[in-house]
Amino acid sequence: MQQADSNITLITSDAPIAGHTHGGRAKCLQRLVRLDLPVPRTVALSFDTVHRIAAGNMPDMNALIGQLGDSALLCVRPSSEDPDWGGPRAILNIGMTDAARDALAPRIGAKAAAKLYLRFVQSYAIHVARLDADTLDDVSDDPEEGLAEALAAYEDETEEQFPQDPAVQLAEVLRSMARAWEGTTARLLRQAKGAPADAGLGLVVQEMVIGLGRGECGSGVLQLVNSQTGQRQMTGRYLSQSQGRDALSTGADALYLERDPRGPSLEELAPEAFAQLKDHTALMRTKLREEMQAEFTIDNGKLYLLDGVRVARNARAAVSIAVALAEDGIIPREEALMRIEPRALNELLHRQVDPDAPRDLLASGIAASPGAATGHIVFTATAAQAAAARGEACVLVRRETSSEDIRGMHAAVAVLTERGGMTSHAAVIGRGIGLPCVVGASKLRFQMGKRKLIAPDGRVLSEGDDVTIDGTNGQVLFGKAHLLDAGIDDSFRVLMDWADDVRDLAVRANADTPADALVARNFKAQGIGLCRTEHMFFDEARMTVMREMIFANSSADRAAALDLLLPMQRADFAELFRIMQGQPVCIRLFDPPLHEFLPSDRAGHRELAEALDLPLSVVTRRVEALSEYNPMLGMRGVRLGITVPEIYDMQTRAIFEAMLDARGEGDPIVPEIMIPLVSASREVELVKTRIDAIANAVRSETGQDFTYRLGVMVETPRAALRAADIAPQVSFLSFGTNDLTQMTYGLSRDDAGRFMSEYVQQGVYPEDPFHSLDIDGVGELLRIGAERGRGARTDLVLSICGEHGGNPESIAFCRAAGFDYVSCSPFRVPVARLAAAQLAV
Ligand code: PEP
Ligand code: MG
Repeated sequence: MQQADSNITLITSDAPIAGHTHGGRAKCLQRLVRLDLPVPRTVALSFDTVHRIAAGNMPDMNALIGQLGDSALLCVRPSSEDPDWGGPRAILNIGMTDAARDALAPRIGAKAAAKLYLRFVQSYAIHVARLDADTLDDVSDDPEEGLAEALAAYEDETEEQFPQDPAVQLAEVLRSMARAWEGTTARLLRQAKGAPADAGLGLVVQEMVIGLGRGECGSGVLQLVNSQTGQRQMTGRYLSQSQGRDALSTGADALYLERDPRGPSLEELAPEAFAQLKDHTALMRTKLREEMQAEFTIDNGKLYLLDGVRVARNARAAVSIAVALAEDGIIPREEALMRIEPRALNELLHRQVDPDAPRDLLASGIAASPGAATGHIVFTATAAQAAAARGEACVLVRRETSSEDIRGMHAAVAVLTERGGMTSHAAVIGRGIGLPCVVGASKLRFQMGKRKLIAPDGRVLSEGDDVTIDGTNGQVLFGKAHLLDAGIDDSFRVLMDWADDVRDLAVRANADTPADALVARNFKAQGIGLCRTEHMFFDEARMTVMREMIFANSSADRAAALDLLLPMQRADFAELFRIMQGQPVCIRLFDPPLHEFLPSDRAGHRELAEALDLPLSVVTRRVEALSEYNPMLGMRGVRLGITVPEIYDMQTRAIFEAMLDARGEGDPIVPEIMIPLVSASREVELVKTRIDAIANAVRSETGQDFTYRLGVMVETPRAALRAADIAPQVSFLSFGTNDLTQMTYGLSRDDAGRFMSEYVQQGVYPEDPFHSLDIDGVGELLRIGAERGRGARTDLVLSICGEHGGNPESIAFCRAAGFDYVSCSPFRVPVARLAAAQLAV
């Protein structure tokens, strides 16, 4: 046998094949060969070889074919380093010529041989010669006639006879696959899946087991787990007299795998092959340390394994599979933890449409990214960002998405596109960020210019109308469907327990309401790291009292309004303390500018005047007096606490009294009180003096003793720089990186969306700093604050409570900077727990 090229290697147990030189498929096939599994002869072409082929440097085809013995037909499949990066589609039946057809006819029948040849001509013409699919697809149903027509069409289009030399066919297939990989679209798609720009492609050339002929012949796939749940359940498809992925195409008349009263099964038709197949798949799991899908062909009852591929799985199944592998002793627990991308948990954690609720279906598309969400439709990324800045849930509707839409996708609760498939941009990005997404909804008419969507039944939706996107089932529903919270199973809980066993960074939740706190507890947050108390004032009744307080003319009037708010806040806090059962609860004193609680238009002013029984002019004047040019840098946070101290007094009293109420019923509680927007240590001194006075008053009124912890939220650069002055007065510092990012960049967190995509695209910022902590700038302030704070007080507790607290990269930074905990929104708690665990493994 002639050795063609050291980069063109027959796959044997000891051939020099590695994932980074020949790709994952070649490496996996070698593993199967080493396990002595019945793999047809296969030759692997290295990345280098394929790269040279793309450049026009073709190796000796006859030598290559020579390595494969005298097999009649060949197939070529891609072998990228990471199978998830994809690659050009496989081409089967290479070597099919007039002569090969004649040779096959006696074995499989003339019609079957013609059909095989026709399929090859079509796939070669479309994917190799790049002819228009229409010219080749529209042929007679009779295979022999169809073949003649297809060959004629080929000749017509190319002005050449269909190649009759297998070596020529193979060379052309290899060249076309190699070039396809180097094309721009393919490169962008794989880069979106995380591949480096220079990722290589290997190819494997395998002898065909054709799956047609006498006795039981056919092909299929089999796996031992369910791809949706990860539970042990044999799934797959098998089709007699078929090859490649025929069995997977919808409409194919697949057989049952196991014996089944409803119809014939592979188990009955080829019992021995079936038993081997099950054993081989189980062996792959143990030896390859991964749940594998077997791609197989049966030839006259004999089994061949063409390939083993990692079972496709959603996040839920990924968790179950990893946990089961660890529980079976196949991989260590730490590896199970490392196998789950923390962000992927979002998929498990997302809401779904209630299966029992009514669905008003507008149209279906491809279920590209699971989870469900409701929002009003917008047609541009900019509109999505504007909606998000207003705190509104929106669904981004595009014909298809591109990198300019990414910011808009982040801002939307779901995405809907007219075009695309499972690997289109919207689908890839949607899955990446856990955003419910339906693509390819081409039954809807997308009138982008008029900003309308027209359903097949004639209903017209305009910008602003509500829809629900069910990314799990690929449906677009009219209006707001009833959604169910995420489905979490035992494997998830087990994995999370393992994560908790290894991690050394605590995770708390940002929770403002009892509902948030319940979610936080459910996800095993170790306390509340940030309760934004102003969120407790948004209901109508409280808003009115709040407004009375704001409009009070005298300290006495203000005190009267605050007396009404006190029992409400006390009840809020007591509820949080009860839910958290003795875990730390960190309550931030009132933060926003007061005018946020006032109406902004004339009608609102009039209503308020009526409610408060005041002349309209008084209301208007007061609202004007409270308005600021830069409210986010104005009278808010501790500045309000110092200038209108009664608000903090009321809140502090409510916290202490609530704590005594809740403590009486059970767990000991040490409340944490946090001062927002500090920039000078004197602010802390002033507030602390009043809090201490209130603590003493409550102690003497109730005759009960208690302690509390005071902390400062580091949200201004100056607070970070002066941490050494502040730290001695407090027991903790919590970095509010939302405001700190805003103030460090001088970048409005509410307006930056307008130009953020432009900035990221032009590489001004590597990423949106409000999503991923700016390590170089804001991170530097965190480091300085942490060092100076701890320098002044060694037992100072450090944490982060901005949005970055749930971002895996930012969590890594915080751990390295010696933080004690991160606090993030409740649904991100599991992501943070796993991310923290991976850092400790
Ligand atoms: C922050 O600024 O980081 C923070 C957590 O507070 P808020 O988002 O409420 O301003
Ligand atoms: Mg803030």
